[in-house]
Amino acid sequence: MSRKEALTKLRDVLILRREALRKALDGDMSLLQSLSQEGGDVMDAAMDTAQDEISSQLVEVESRELNQIEEALARFREGIYGNCEACDKPIPLARLQAVPYATTCIDCARKQERVGFKPSTGFGDSAHFPNASR
Ligand SMILES: [Zn+2]
Repeated sequence: MSRKEALTKLRDVLILRREALRKALDGDMSLLQSLSQEGGDVMDAAMDTAQDEISSQLVEVESRELNQIEEALARFREGIYGNCEACDKPIPLARLQAVPYATTCIDCARKQERVGFKPSTGFGDSAHFPNASR
């Protein structure tokens, strides 16, 4: 299979994934609406709040992925899908098959992660050993 064929298959994967995400987002919205319509005592209200928070976090994650997929499909239309947007080199197929909406190669993705990464100060290390004080 040529790289072009492989990329076309990945586009199909992205389109299917986009449909699934849109349906999930629709489902989450109706769930949120049905939750807010139900009244009840304090416990129910607390449960509703927790549910709302979980749902809105899911919606956030799904919306972000949806945006990334839209971006990848736009890049496909422009004929630049599969190339790194930072260094313009072809992204390895293995990476695209793992993350079809990746717009950077692994090297550039790591560099971008490092920019936003705050190294540990060394304080609060005990948090990594919750059983140490027992
Ligand atoms: Zn790159």
